[in-house]
Amino acid sequence: MPMAKTKPAEFLMKESRYYQFRNFLDKGTLACFSNRSLDLGFASADIEKNRKEFLRKLGINYADLVCCQQPHGGKVGIVGKKDIGKGVASFATAVPDCDALVTVERNIPLAVFTADCLSIFIFATKRHAVGIVHAGWRGSKEEIIKNTLKAMFDKFGVTPGELLIGFGPAIRSCCYEVTGEFKDHFQDGLIEKDGKIYLDLVKINLAQLGSMGVTPENVFDCSFCTAHNNGEFFSYRKEGKAAGRMMSLVMLK
Ligand SMILES: [Zn+2]
Repeated sequence: MPMAKTKPAEFLMKESRYYQFRNFLDKGTLACFSNRSLDLGFASADIEKNRKEFLRKLGINYADLVCCQQPHGGKVGIVGKKDIGKGVASFATAVPDCDALVTVERNIPLAVFTADCLSIFIFATKRHAVGIVHAGWRGSKEEIIKNTLKAMFDKFGVTPGELLIGFGPAIRSCCYEVTGEFKDHFQDGLIEKDGKIYLDLVKINLAQLGSMGVTPENVFDCSFCTAHNNGEFFSYRKEGKAAGRMMSLVMLK
């Protein structure tokens, strides 16, 4: 599927265990997502070992990680120094009731975990603020990306024109078949083909970004479909409950 209007994947750097947004790094921010070589989710049997190994590769102090509980809602957590280490090794200690995290603090890595849901990376290049968003269909219905940007505008004084946005791996409209009741949830972003209905999370989130003043030229989409590229990424649709989770991480340097 052509990813209309967003920038193609030349901005990505590939290492053995992660992909990094080069254009974020050029401006002083680490934004990267893992592949399926390590299960980094809360349900991983080796959560501590795997997260330590992954973060060490990125030069990040494991104990600094901040994660949220991701209840598939629309709420945003404002992260400060008091939150360092929340969710680093257990779901119970993660920031509750949030699917997105934002901060203006340097060297605090913010992470969400996905296996089909869309992760969205946010970097305000002038104000120097970052955010990370977990946007599945429920969060997208709650307009979590809009809520996240609103929080960054209101709390940090960020403006739309300074934003760089990254889209991580997700199940794409080529593979994301849904039921007819999704027509009640989304007015746009559904594709009907051969009697089936497919959901386009990228299109929905791109439209929400547009409504907040973000232009598509500043949105960088890795374009990976987790179901199509199941050899490289975890996919809940492909693997069910046994699916591991990729980490999507952003940190101001
Ligand atoms: Zn696909």
